Amino acid sequence: MNLVIPYRNRRSHLSQFLNHYRESGFDIFIIEQCDDKPFNRGKLLNIGVFEGDSDYYIFHDVDMLAVDGFEIYSPAEVAHLAGRASQFGYKDPYIKMGIQGKYFGGVTLFSKAAFEKCDGYSNEFWGWGSEDDEMLNQVRKHYEVEFRPGRFRSLNHSPADRSFHNKNILLNLKNTEFGRPETDGLKACKYELISKEKTNDFTWVKVKL
Ligand code: UDP
Ligand code: MN
Repeated sequence: MNLVIPYRNRRSHLSQFLNHYRESGFDIFIIEQCDDKPFNRGKLLNIGVFEGDSDYYIFHDVDMLAVDGFEIYSPAEVAHLAGRASQFGYKDPYIKMGIQGKYFGGVTLFSKAAFEKCDGYSNEFWGWGSEDDEMLNQVRKHYEVEFRPGRFRSLNHSPADRSFHNKNILLNLKNTEFGRPETDGLKACKYELISKEKTNDFTWVKVKL
């Protein structure tokens, strides 16, 4: 099983993560964004699939550590794993908006076949927000999603810059209503590979988007 981390400039989180997951047996891929564009989580996750072949992928924020062991990562077509994160008081974060069971952020798991059928994440969500919501809306057109109430300890960081959030909310609405354009998604994902280094513990892939 490959575990893909979208990454930029979170050194201390990364070292804590690698420490926590050293015994997991997952093939860890760090996909680092090495340009000055806004961070693009979805596109980095797509790149993780191009850079390492596997039957199953875990897409994993660097600041989430599974509290109750690695059983939560058992295979599925499509599953959301981080239903209970400490940053949300170990509760579903969307409950307070009255939409329980729609949170698809933090940690997800896909079979390769399911990820390809859904054509991956969108490449067009720059900056913080909504790439996870958009992905869930695309996935639901093809699959029943398993929501697992996995408990994760979230590492502290200052809140992200949310200046692109409104734009991203609108893009999610548009794609959900009208479908994603052919120019977006896994098959349309283009990037520049800067370097790829494999150690005993992980593969570190540096890219420009
Ligand atoms: N991330 C990163 N560098 C950044 C922004 C995000 O490495 O500058 C990665 C990291 O894996 C992080 C994930 O993207 O855990 C989600 O971003 P963030 O933690 O800021 O979002 P939130 O905590 O609000 O869900
Ligand atoms: Mn975070």
